[in-house]
Amino acid sequence: MTSTDMLDRDKNFRSVDVLIVGSGLIGSSLVCALSSAMGAKNLSVLVVEAGPARDISKAELDSERDARSTALSFGSSQILERLGLWKGLSRFAAPIHEIFVSDQGRFGATRLTSAEYKLDALGYVVENKNLLSALYEGMQSHKKLNIVNNTRVIKVVPNSDGMEVQLKEAQQDTQKIQARLVVLAEGGQSKIATELGIKRRRVDYNQHAIIANITTEKAHCGIAYERFSESGPIALLPLAPLGEEYRASLVWTVTSAAAAAMVNWTEPLLLEKLQQNIGQRLGQIKTFGKRDVYPLSLSVVEEQIRPSLVLLGNAAHTIHPVAGQGMNLSLRDIEALVFCIDRGLKKDLRINDFSILQEYVMRRDDDQNQVINFTHRLVELFSSSSLAKVLPRKLGLLTLDLFPALRRELVMRASGSR
Ligand SMILES: Cc1cc2nc3c(=O)[nH]c(=O)nc-3n(C[C@H](O)[C@H](O)[C@H](O)COP(=O)(O)OP(=O)(O)OC[C@H]3O[C@@H](n4cnc5c(N)ncnc54)[C@H](O)[C@@H]3O)c2cc1C
Repeated sequence: MTSTDMLDRDKNFRSVDVLIVGSGLIGSSLVCALSSAMGAKNLSVLVVEAGPARDISKAELDSERDARSTALSFGSSQILERLGLWKGLSRFAAPIHEIFVSDQGRFGATRLTSAEYKLDALGYVVENKNLLSALYEGMQSHKKLNIVNNTRVIKVVPNSDGMEVQLKEAQQDTQKIQARLVVLAEGGQSKIATELGIKRRRVDYNQHAIIANITTEKAHCGIAYERFSESGPIALLPLAPLGEEYRASLVWTVTSAAAAAMVNWTEPLLLEKLQQNIGQRLGQIKTFGKRDVYPLSLSVVEEQIRPSLVLLGNAAHTIHPVAGQGMNLSLRDIEALVFCIDRGLKKDLRINDFSILQEYVMRRDDDQNQVINFTHRLVELFSSSSLAKVLPRKLGLLTLDLFPALRRELVMRASGSR
């Protein structure tokens, strides 16, 4: 692997098999999956990333880029194991043994436990800085990989052999690269897709997520709390302790107007309001770490593939984090895409043979629709205080306790076993 801030013009670097736009969680995972499945096939891969290079010896720095944590389903941990990454990651992962769902100020709560379903864990929580570090380390094993940082893809133009890709690095001339297959993993804004005229179904939830790591008086004991409050859902995910400190990752969903006010709140005020909302389950909340704010929307492209082009991750489907499914869904997408590519290459197809991408989309259709619709319904149901919605919500929590089949459905979704 070579990593650089610019393409070496002297090398006359002109064409690659796969060009990946973006080295976020999804672009990086794809490289690891490609090299794990097809290292021997020696596909040349170029990753173009607008942001600066990552230094894996300084994972701490990545929390400046992304202070979030990700709840990985049990199924995702198995995918990462197949990619050879889980062994290194598991020491940073906090297992979720129980999910406690409750509704502030209303009767109705339910517990889902791993023991009840004979699972090792319902999932694991890993800080994104550790996840990104592990993925970046995994990328190093790819022999024919180049990464260019501080460089943007500004345009892709289809041609007879794939795509001509235009790159722009600050203060430099535009460079052109020929790629057989272009993967857009450029996140939810996905300007390239928009330029290509790819349409999206968009729902603006008028909500923002405030995220931070908090420290608490009591240990979380492997319990993830999902609390539906008047202001919106609050998730507290267990984190591995740091020294003597008990920690949890907070995702606090509020209206966009409330978020605008809350970014200016002092730490004592945030602590007080959070404590009011979640009660004393974890004892006193001691500190509220660096906070970041994310706008929340549903955004799903109408075309995930075109000849020589595939969209992955948030670029393909950005969903609300209420059920912690975005990365989990994309890991399953990646595994399927690499499976289809591998199968196509074994049949002597070219990597950009459209039948490969068509098979990928066909395989993923059901799972994607189910996760997108499930998450959207959950947001609609739990984001309202109107009686018409509170009633089914209350009934929903009660029904979950009463009907084992429904509970099982929720657990299977949380654990990624379905
Ligand atoms: C608050 C919150 C909590 C979440 N919690 C969970 C969870 O618990 N479990 C879960 O499964 N999912 C979760 N998710 C979803 C998960 O974070 C996303 O699915 C994931 O981050 C998507 O990654 P991505 O690589 O597609 O996009 P991004 O992370 O946005 O990466 C895109 C990359 O592309 C680069 N880029 C953009 N444009 C260009 C360009 N033109 N040229 C070159 N580079 C470019 C950017 O610099 C960036 O590095 C959560 C999301 C949020 C907002």
